[in-house]
Amino acid sequence: MFVSDCISVNEKGHLTIGGADTLDLANTYGTPAYVFDEGQIRKNCRDFVNSINDNYGGNGLVLYASKAFCCKEMCRICRDEGLGLDVVSGGELYTALSAGFPAEKIYFHGNNKTADELNQAVQAGVGRIIADNITELVTLDGIAKNAGKKQAVLLRIKPGIDAHTHDFIKTGQIDSKFGFALETGEALEAVKFALTHENLELVGLHCHIGSQIFEINPFVEAAEVMLNFYSQIKAETGVTLSELDLGGGFGIKYLETDTPRPFGDFMKAVSERVKSKCSELSLPVPFILIEPGRAIVGAAGITLYTAGAVKTIPGIRTYVSIDGGMGDNPRYILYQADYEIVAAGKANEERSATITLAGKCCESGDLIQENTPVQPVKPGDIVAVLSTGAYNYSMASNYNRIPRPPVVMVKDGEARIVVKRESYENLVENDI
Ligand SMILES: *Cc1c(COP(=O)(O)O)cnc(C)c1O
Repeated sequence: MFVSDCISVNEKGHLTIGGADTLDLANTYGTPAYVFDEGQIRKNCRDFVNSINDNYGGNGLVLYASKAFCCKEMCRICRDEGLGLDVVSGGELYTALSAGFPAEKIYFHGNNKTADELNQAVQAGVGRIIADNITELVTLDGIAKNAGKKQAVLLRIKPGIDAHTHDFIKTGQIDSKFGFALETGEALEAVKFALTHENLELVGLHCHIGSQIFEINPFVEAAEVMLNFYSQIKAETGVTLSELDLGGGFGIKYLETDTPRPFGDFMKAVSERVKSKCSELSLPVPFILIEPGRAIVGAAGITLYTAGAVKTIPGIRTYVSIDGGMGDNPRYILYQADYEIVAAGKANEERSATITLAGKCCESGDLIQENTPVQPVKPGDIVAVLSTGAYNYSMASNYNRIPRPPVVMVKDGEARIVVKRESYENLVENDI
């Protein structure tokens, strides 16, 4: 009935998440509020871990791409579930470390890490740094040398596979700000550079072909391209790389029409191809890494708002304005993201109205969804936007000096705050 498994309707006709009544949650914590079902997050973590256990003999590690939703409690959940963490900034690294996340299971990504960030990562003892460019390798080698360490690195490669939701092509990917290109020989140069610098230990390669991908084939093809390159590296340098990081991007359900595959299907297809390809190329089967972000948290989170003004423009549309908007969810204004919207107090009723859900910011484009079906909404009603667990809280801003909403975590029907609502005092805290 809803896009997400953790969402349901109770006997009062109210929308629930993880068994908790969303009207009660709105009442207790106020709106806007982000709400997550911890059970769903943990189930998603386990599905990915099991997919590697079942299909690849456990010879790999699931890294949660923390940029999707990063806070200390999320890092603790990932630690408990045995996941590693993909971070892309000093701030994400700091969050993970302050949550007690084991540094050796942290993988540091990013196309322009600063010297300070690299230093912070080396000092902390992160497991891997995924180097993006030669400038970074030069800086990192120097930093590791000063620290008296040999830093384990992966290199980010552009495999030449550009994955889209409905099709994929093998060109164009060369025009990306991320990583080393294969076609131009740049990647091989980078491999040789890393191999010849004392304070760098090259253990493998990484690729990430896109996001919200439903097809399995692009992942399989990327693995093949990468292993062909492993074979070329072995032939030209005599070195056998032992790790292969295939990135994230597994698609989730935002609308009823989205049809994601079970995560295990990806791993099954990829595992089979990796094993057969390795035997073909006489390579040892590598330790594998996958980096789901959205697929772990996206459908496990919702946002609750209170409806305010309702404006019907005859013959054009009806705007329902809410007490949040692009500040807490910039995905619509950024890329017209799809969402399912429910009037939380009448979740059983027919979605007979067509509305445009508008934010309260001073931008005409500050919308959450346009001309979308929902139960009739009047001022004061609680409105839920589903599948907002990924790239909402993590992309939130204080535009118009609106404090960021809290994050509420529900577990077996019981709710707790894991990130407090920002206060007006917080907003002026750093102002001089
Ligand atoms: C964004 C990103 C991910 C996660 O992408 P999802 O679509 O959220 O799964 C994983 N790895 C890298 C390198 C990324 O940039």
